[in-house]
Amino acid sequence: MESPPVVDIDVDSFINGQPLLPAFNGKVDMTAAFKWSRYNILEFFDKITAQPGPRGYDVEAGAQKSLDAVVTAIHTLVNSGTPQTSIFLPKQLDVWYYNTKFRIETIFELVGWIFSVTGFSPSNANRNNYYYPIAALYCVFWRRLTENSAIDPPIKHDPNVAQITWFKVGSNWRICVSSTLDGIGLKPYKDAAQLRRQDVLIASGLLPKTMKNTSLVPTPNPQMFGHCAETIPWLYINSILKSVSAASAEGFALQPKLILPDKYKGAYEYARLDYRVFRPPCENCAYLLSKLGFKAQNFEPPTY
Ligand SMILES: [Zn+2]
Repeated sequence: MESPPVVDIDVDSFINGQPLLPAFNGKVDMTAAFKWSRYNILEFFDKITAQPGPRGYDVEAGAQKSLDAVVTAIHTLVNSGTPQTSIFLPKQLDVWYYNTKFRIETIFELVGWIFSVTGFSPSNANRNNYYYPIAALYCVFWRRLTENSAIDPPIKHDPNVAQITWFKVGSNWRICVSSTLDGIGLKPYKDAAQLRRQDVLIASGLLPKTMKNTSLVPTPNPQMFGHCAETIPWLYINSILKSVSAASAEGFALQPKLILPDKYKGAYEYARLDYRVFRPPCENCAYLLSKLGFKAQNFEPPTY
């Protein structure tokens, strides 16, 4: 396989003076992981698959059944040659999150699933030392995996928004992270995926059937339910809501295009972290948030 172009990444190992905590069950130095190549990332996913137990990467028990299929699917996408086949899976893949199966269909969702099921968050994690950097690392990973000559420039198919939610389940903290579907030239695939996500919102009971194909977001940008980056994280959490302390859930949405390099050899602008990177929940998400029992103030963007 042709070796992909490399984007240089400049990384701060501290945010607001706080050193980054290790990720993935305490096994990965995040500062180092920001500089991984796509080969390092694929190798890392293979390692998780080989050691999914509590003494390894501690992948959520139900999800372990899907690890092989997810990592194989990522390899397939990375080795393909067109924008569409680098982002959208060629056939349906249903994966386990705890005891519920979800259809996931893009590289962004596959990578987000791995982040969402692998290990718990460190007990002293906060926005600065863990949650912002791991959300940013999620974006860096899918960017690395989609960097190939078929997608040029790389930023062309980046999602506009990613979202991370962290929450207490039992006595531990987990994250769920995913993104919107955006990009140029792939609208039919994106729209079909969005409708499927909307149907899952309805089937899960989070969205009344009467609200199908509606939006609470005022014009000029009235995107329908299912579009937002919050959709998949919140569907995952909803599936285990009985074991989750909903009032503990916190999160934020961020705009990957403001931190990822916009060209090969560009720098990752971690240092530019400020309030402009973050986005408040839209009206659709505010509706879902209250259905889930989350607290609206826990989802306000951080003010750096
Ligand atoms: Zn939204």
